[in-house]
Amino acid sequence: MLYSHSRLETFDSCRLKFKYQYIDKPDIPKRDSVEAFLGIRVHETLEALYKNLMMGKTWTCEEYLQHYQDNWQRNQSDAIFIVKKEYSLEDYFQQGLAALEKYWKHYQPFDQEKTIDLERRVYFSLDDGGRFQMQGFIDRLSKTENGVWQIRDYKTKRRLPTQQEADADRQLALYQIGIERMWPEIEQIELIWHYVLFNEEIKSVRDHTDLERVKLDTIHLIQEVERAVAADDFPYKESALCDWCDYFDICPAKKHLAKVRQLPPREFKEEEGVQLVDRFSQLKRQEKEVKAELEALKEGLIAFADQFQADRIYGSDQRVKIISKDTYKVPSTDDKHRRSLLVELLKEAGFWESVSNFYGPRLVKMYEKDQLPADLKAKITEFLTPATIQTIRLSKAETYDENFEDI
Ligand code: SF4
Repeated sequence: MLYSHSRLETFDSCRLKFKYQYIDKPDIPKRDSVEAFLGIRVHETLEALYKNLMMGKTWTCEEYLQHYQDNWQRNQSDAIFIVKKEYSLEDYFQQGLAALEKYWKHYQPFDQEKTIDLERRVYFSLDDGGRFQMQGFIDRLSKTENGVWQIRDYKTKRRLPTQQEADADRQLALYQIGIERMWPEIEQIELIWHYVLFNEEIKSVRDHTDLERVKLDTIHLIQEVERAVAADDFPYKESALCDWCDYFDICPAKKHLAKVRQLPPREFKEEEGVQLVDRFSQLKRQEKEVKAELEALKEGLIAFADQFQADRIYGSDQRVKIISKDTYKVPSTDDKHRRSLLVELLKEAGFWESVSNFYGPRLVKMYEKDQLPADLKAKITEFLTPATIQTIRLSKAETYDENFEDI
């Protein structure tokens, strides 16, 4: 498989989506998100702008914006879907128009650097043996008067990354590896992202060590992909990106939602799956309430028995027995310091494994039954607090009528 940053990004974001997109390729209707549509239109306008400049042709700002508008209208279709329903297609169009206008004002007459190429394909291997092949397309490759090469990428995302995030970005670093292979004599390269909706440029410079790390991390990720392919292991990972996923309607995590969210409210409520989940969640809620009520009743019974100085309290046909037991408590989860000291002590003594499953009760039981070595028992003593635990046992009450039969 020939890899690209976007393939690996898809694998990282959701393995099932990767499987659909690059392996299974199910025959489902293609949909275009409005965000992707906007991104393509902005990219092609900027590409046309710089292509003209490379040919010595200069546009006016009106011609440049008209190009965007014409392309938008030519490609517009009903297949474009909008996730954020509060915005219309026109809102997105205007957003792109405003961003391109700002770009024009910012960079016109576009002579800050020389454009070397547009949509430049980079194709290279991450290893010397040629096993891990990568490819990508650089939006614009440019060079400054001082001989600095610049790998430029245009983004229409609505989130501006931090410098730290840009310095950790894989995509342009991979392109740098490719460019250095193609032109080994290049001494300096800058990675530049244009976040056009913000009219912001973000720059990152990578040294040899950074690139070696990117190479290694990417090889490891590709190996992870190969393992997943060999084992057919592609679990889904739900995220905010699901709403934009082409496979929403067939994904096991979303296909029921895809079906029911189109139903009118009444039919939605009557759908079998919806009814089953609603009833289940209702009972679960009741279960929680019953548990809370049982706890309160238990406390009430213990208080009553204490006041009445009895340990058996009778109901109509059942009785409860209150059992008090003097035992110990381990440090609570709030007492992190003492708890971690105790854990260390148990680990050092090689007893952690045997008590870790039921940490507190199991340790106390072993302590009480003298199942711990004497020196460990002595050390543990300071961590245990004496406590009385009261439990309640419910059983059938005796029938006294039989006893009175002969009287
Ligand atoms: S809908 Fe979400 S979970 Fe399902 S395949 Fe797409 S991204 Fe993955």
